[in-house]
Parts: sequence; structure tokens; C-alpha cells
Amino acid sequence: MENEKRAFEQELQNARNEAKRIEQRINELKNSKAKQEEIKEQLEKQIENTRQQISICTNRIISIQNSIDALQSDIEAKNKEFDHIKELFKKRLRCMYMSGANGQLLILLGADDFADYLARTELTRCVAEYDNALLLKITKIVESINQTKSEVEKQKQEQVNLKKTLEQKQNQLNSQVSEVNQIIRNINSQTSELNAKKQEYENAIRQVEKKIEEVLQQITALKFNGTVGFLWPVPGYYIITSPFGMRVHPITGTYRMHNGIDISGSGILGKPILAAEDGQVVIASYNAGGYGNYVMINHGKDDSSNTYATLYGHMTKYIVSVGQTVKKGDVIGYVGSTGASTGPHLHFEIRVNGTPQNPMNYFNKVK
Ligand SMILES: [Zn+2]
Repeated sequence: MENEKRAFEQELQNARNEAKRIEQRINELKNSKAKQEEIKEQLEKQIENTRQQISICTNRIISIQNSIDALQSDIEAKNKEFDHIKELFKKRLRCMYMSGANGQLLILLGADDFADYLARTELTRCVAEYDNALLLKITKIVESINQTKSEVEKQKQEQVNLKKTLEQKQNQLNSQVSEVNQIIRNINSQTSELNAKKQEYENAIRQVEKKIEEVLQQITALKFNGTVGFLWPVPGYYIITSPFGMRVHPITGTYRMHNGIDISGSGILGKPILAAEDGQVVIASYNAGGYGNYVMINHGKDDSSNTYATLYGHMTKYIVSVGQTVKKGDVIGYVGSTGASTGPHLHFEIRVNGTPQNPMNYFNKVK
């Protein structure tokens, strides 16, 4: 029976430690998921921003291309004009000079006299000069358009390069988002694994608690001497820093049942803890994840076959041993802060038929 009980205690302690560790890990994962989601949000903002820039860039390229096309048509028109004028010029030259059989300047034949000849040659010269000037002018215009066009093409190239850079950035951001999504998926699957594990441990704790109560009931051979009610376990200290019932655990931060009351007060550290009723010590042990040094006393069965037990946690040390019989008011240990505790106090439980009850209902009078 003793070995069995010790094994249960060990099991309970391990399960509690593990449950606490898992909960911490789950909280860590929750935090890192929140961080990753923040990163993702930032990346998505950047992607949207880049997408807008790309769109602006694309519109610019289209608009610049339209300018280039317009300039190109201008150039083509001017080139046509140039060719046309050149053609007319050639024709005129042919008319003026090439009408003779021997390649002579037969233009003279139509002249009535020398003055007329001079006038004709002067005219020829003028026509040539005029056409030349016109061709030169067109050439200059084409040159100027070409220059504008190459400037605009340079602008277009700049935009094309910018667009390429933006698209690369976009791709990079997209792959970053995929990475973050992968991380979030990993976190999610780790979290659900841990939640399943946590559930297992919580079930284990419940089972062990149940087993302890079974052991308590099996070893009950005492007659409950509960006619006058329980004795307050730390005389002179009546401050309840945490009552019985659901609460946020001061260390794990989770919302859980508080199975007892926490009795505290200035100077309580090291004060004697008294057995609340006659009984037999069934547990005197250390539990790192919870009760620290703690003692459980079995007080036996009453006439209606209800079993009573009290539990005293976080002791500096206990001075009783398992199997020892104690009298109401005997010192069993001293107030401390061992186990899951944030300061010196006595965690005190009353269990009736294995179920923790509000101890405040079991004292006759509390001064
Ligand atoms: Zn407590």
C-alpha cells in the first residue's frame, strides 16, 4: 500500500511538472505565432505597395511607348517629305539640264539672248539653293526628333529596369510570405500536438488524484471525530490571500480550480502548522511542480461513511511521517514557500470523499 501510494505521488508530480512545461511551451508558440503574423502583415503591406508601384511603372511605360510611337511616325513622315522633295529636285534638274543630246546645257537653246540665259542659270541656281535649304531643314528636324526619341527611349529603359527591380522585389516578398506561412503552419501543428499532450497529462493528473483518493478510502480505518469541526491550522493568521474556487493561477497564468485556501500574513514564515483534526498521516512528501513539501492527513469516516482528509502545502519542512497518528492541534510542520508558491503561505485543503471542498465551511469558528 505504501509503495503504491509513493508511486502515485511520483506519477502525479511528474505529470504536473510536464503539464506546466507544456503550457509554457504552448504560450511560447502562441507568442511566436503572433510575431510571425505581424511579420506576414508587414510583408503583405509591402507586397501591396510594390504592386501599386509596378502598376504605376507599367502605365508610365505604356505612355512613354505612345510618345515613342508618335515620334516615330513624325520621323517617318519627315523622311517621306525629304524623299519627295529630293525626287522633285532631281526631276527639275533633269528638266533643266538633261534635255540635250550631247549632255550640253541645252537650257540655253530656249534663251532668247544672253541676259535671258543668265536669268535662267540664276533661276536654276536659286531653285537648287531653295531645295537644298529645304532638305537641310528637314534633315535637321529629323535629327532633332531622333534625339528626342532616343531621350524618351532612355526614359523607357529606366522604367523597364525599375519595373524589373520591382518585380524581383515582389517575388522576394512572395517567397518570404510563403516561408512565414510555412512557419505558422509548423507552429500550428506543434501547438495542436502539445495541446493533445497537455490533455493527456491533465487526464493523468485527474486519474492520479482519483487513485490517491481511492488509496485514502482503502486505508481508512479511523472513526471520524468531527463533532466540533476543524481546527484553524495556523493560529493567529487569518488572512486569506486566495480563496477556494476558480482563479488565474499565480504562476502558470492559466484559469484553474484552486482546491484550497491560501492562509498568509506578515511574519507567517516558519510558524507552526497544526493538524486540523485527529488522524493518520498518509502523505508526507515533496512535489516540485505544485505543493512543495506537503502533508496529507486522513481523518477517517463519519457515521454516513463520508471520508475526510486535509492537505497542507508549501511547508518549509514537515516533521511527521507516513503512518504516524496525529492529534488535533499537533504541530506537523512549518509555514514556507516551497513548490509552486510566490510567497510564504499555507495552502490548506479539505477533501470529503476525495473531493476538495471549501475549507471555510468546515471550521466552527474563525477568530
Ligand atoms: Zn493554494
